[in-house]
Amino acid sequence: MSRQNVEALDVEGIRADFPILEREFSVGSETQRADGEAVDDGTPLVYLDNAATTHTPEPVVEAMSDYYRRYNSNVHRGIHHLSQEASIAYEDAHDRVAEFVGASGGREEIIFTKNTTESENLIAYSWGLSELGPGDEVVLTEMEHHASLVTWQQVAQRTGADVKYIRIDEDGRLDMDHARECITDDTALVSAVHVSNTLGTVNPVSELTELAHDHDALSLIDGAQAVPNQPVDVEEIGADFYAFSGHKMAGPTGIGVLYGRKELLEEMEPYLYGGGMVRKVTFEDTTWGELPWKFEPGTPPIAEAVGLHAAVDYLEEIGMANVQAHERELSTYAYERLSEVGDVDIYGPEPGPDRGGLVSFNLEGVHAHDLASIMNDHAVAIRAGDHCTQPLHDKLGVAASARASFYIYNTREEIDVLVDALEDARELFA
Ligand code: PLP
Repeated sequence: MSRQNVEALDVEGIRADFPILEREFSVGSETQRADGEAVDDGTPLVYLDNAATTHTPEPVVEAMSDYYRRYNSNVHRGIHHLSQEASIAYEDAHDRVAEFVGASGGREEIIFTKNTTESENLIAYSWGLSELGPGDEVVLTEMEHHASLVTWQQVAQRTGADVKYIRIDEDGRLDMDHARECITDDTALVSAVHVSNTLGTVNPVSELTELAHDHDALSLIDGAQAVPNQPVDVEEIGADFYAFSGHKMAGPTGIGVLYGRKELLEEMEPYLYGGGMVRKVTFEDTTWGELPWKFEPGTPPIAEAVGLHAAVDYLEEIGMANVQAHERELSTYAYERLSEVGDVDIYGPEPGPDRGGLVSFNLEGVHAHDLASIMNDHAVAIRAGDHCTQPLHDKLGVAASARASFYIYNTREEIDVLVDALEDARELFA
């Protein structure tokens, strides 16, 4: 990312596109009205749970409601006007997403799934179960989300393959010397998270992909926390497969994406069967339709695809380099402010180019769930738990952590509210 091209976001303008951010919660504080009566103060929502799900701007809601109002219909099957319009919109959404992540093969390389988890399972079922066997190794990292870790563990148990984990160092970065030891000629797949949803680490995924290819292995990158937050070009990375979710990038729930290199997808068998994905069916056998429909049986997420298209337009209008710079600034500020609070342990690398827009931490003596509950008393929404990275939390020596994650509509002032609430928690548990 070139720093000169980065522009500060018009955060107030962006916030106006997200009516949900205007919500206020009654959290028990009271003020005196002029007539002396006490009334509940509406406390404004501070939403810092964006790594779980981001909010949806008006243009996305509008695009989806326009679909339902004007051209709701099933795709690929109808001759009538509505079906034709819905089909075109659904297909266009694939093209738009392909362009957004640099997939030069266009729609044939973009499969719509339910979410990142399903995208990863698609590779596991379609490729993993048929290609892996005893002696093969799948190399993961210690910071994988369960979406990848549990999936490949299960595939390994079923196929007799082994799973290896690239270590993280004390700062929460991948130990690349260990990566070079782990990835060998026995490696069949390297599956790595692009940006850790717990540590915030931005991993050197191009380097990992290159290492995989040096040993004739494939690479699968989990981009759930990358595509929403920074420019991503799957071909520059060299990824064979790349997965992400609509609901973490200002889009709707119910739609995810799997990018796959066309040559690989062409060779792979579908993992779900049914209508809409076939070329010819007889009583004896079936041949598969074209990419990407071969991997999208049944009625697909049509309104969601329309919404995802609008979300991509919305983010590109802002500029992904600007999104990244804004989040980096907020996470740096959060890191610094949290470091000033005594007894706070922050996980992951110090602020810098390899840290994304989230900060996970613990306040000594306060369970993360209690902390999140106190935050909620201040209408501050954060996440607490293991963030679907239990083995990583075991490695960090904690059962859970609190996580604040930022998006295009967050401000420094909101981080101040978080830090003030943290001070309250400390006093309460002192
Ligand atoms: N991978 C990472 C890094 C994530 O952060 C998440 C969600 O938090 C997932 C995968 C799973 O995403 P989804 O729940 O949309 O399938």
